[in-house]
Amino acid sequence: MPEDNPPLSPSHDSPDTATPATPASLESPDATAGLPVATVFLKPKRARPFYGRHPWVLESAVLRIEGTPAPGDVVDLATHNGDFVGRGLWNPDSRIRVRLYAFTAAERLDDAFWRARIERAVAVRRSLHLDDRASAARLINSEGDDLSGLIVDRFADWLCVQFTARAMHCRMDLICDVLNDLVKPAGILLRSAERGLGKLEGMQIADGLVRGRLPDGPVFINDNGLRFGVDLAEGQKTGFYLDQRDNRQAAARLATGRRVLDMFCYSGGFSIACVKAGAASVLAVDGSAKATALAEANAGLNGAANITVETADAFKKLDALAAAGERFGMVILDPPKFARSRSTHDEALRAYHRINRQGVDLLETGGILVTCSCSGAVTRDDFLMMLSGVAQRSGRSISMLACHGAAPDHPVSASCLEGEYLTCVIARVV
Ligand code: SAH
Repeated sequence: MPEDNPPLSPSHDSPDTATPATPASLESPDATAGLPVATVFLKPKRARPFYGRHPWVLESAVLRIEGTPAPGDVVDLATHNGDFVGRGLWNPDSRIRVRLYAFTAAERLDDAFWRARIERAVAVRRSLHLDDRASAARLINSEGDDLSGLIVDRFADWLCVQFTARAMHCRMDLICDVLNDLVKPAGILLRSAERGLGKLEGMQIADGLVRGRLPDGPVFINDNGLRFGVDLAEGQKTGFYLDQRDNRQAAARLATGRRVLDMFCYSGGFSIACVKAGAASVLAVDGSAKATALAEANAGLNGAANITVETADAFKKLDALAAAGERFGMVILDPPKFARSRSTHDEALRAYHRINRQGVDLLETGGILVTCSCSGAVTRDDFLMMLSGVAQRSGRSISMLACHGAAPDHPVSASCLEGEYLTCVIARVV
């Protein structure tokens, strides 16, 4: 993406002239200067990933530290014999000891630097035409925007911020100031990304409002021309699965005239898109009663008849449908993350195999399978091998029509492929 996009707001200073209005860091006084207070030396032969701009320096790669950095401080990364490798932020309490943000010694990680990075991320969304204030988009996607540890989603006039790195959380005031300047939201809310994350980074984050005001009720967004109410205080993740935006469209295009099963429907994103695209009917199922209530409400909001919403366990429901001899023209499987880490990888693949086998068994000849994995620990190759296993066991021919990742407001850094967590395969099953 070009880095020379025009400033987003007329009041914005250029990175060279911006002066910080507030102290950048809650914990570290050096952050406004942005120069290193310490050097972290790598073990011999451990520098290669960082020459390739990988941003995570794990504890196991660190040889020694010169200086006494506090959490969130700027540090330089050097080879064992002292050659500069990169510049980043220190966290002694995380397995990721340093997150790198710059790869030249001339760059200071000061307020102007963070401001410029955030501006660049927001400008990318504008270039993708995802800056409509009535809609929703991910404005900052961590490593994909060279801002490891920071995720920001916009839902109409509200922003939801997730800190997945302590050093980014240290700079919360600055980040919120910049977001306020650029986006002028009605409010900014903090959302913890996942339970247990604070512990991994040695930080405590209290969710809640940090700027502006709370919405009175659900926030209404426009997603591909459909309306969804998003409950920012209660919803899962940051309230709506933005990453599936384009995949919902791609599935809906093939749903015309079909009887659709949307398993793991959450707030009804796939279901409503399919009904509006002319599906004969949709059965939407989720294990959470809160989710199915949202799906019902969103179906009503879009005047989408022909949707039956049910609260049930997916594995049991898939078995029950098979036992009743039901058949569908499209089965959508968008389960939660089955693999939380590498150690649960094999177990996760077995769970993916099981639901995909159940889903394929419910498809009529020529039916469409839309099957997703959002487990970063399961690679795309693993997922495709799992599907190959399902074809073998079911004796059905599965032809992939498309294989997508997340929507483009969730960019993935080529230097940090760990960011590529979502796979959505659309296949024809004969
Ligand atoms: N397809 C949705 C997102 C799905 S997220 C969208 O486009 O918005 C995964 C969903 O799976 C969550 O809503 C969660 O409540 C549901 N879920 C988790 N475990 C389940 C289970 N065993 N049975 C049914 N649903 C389950």
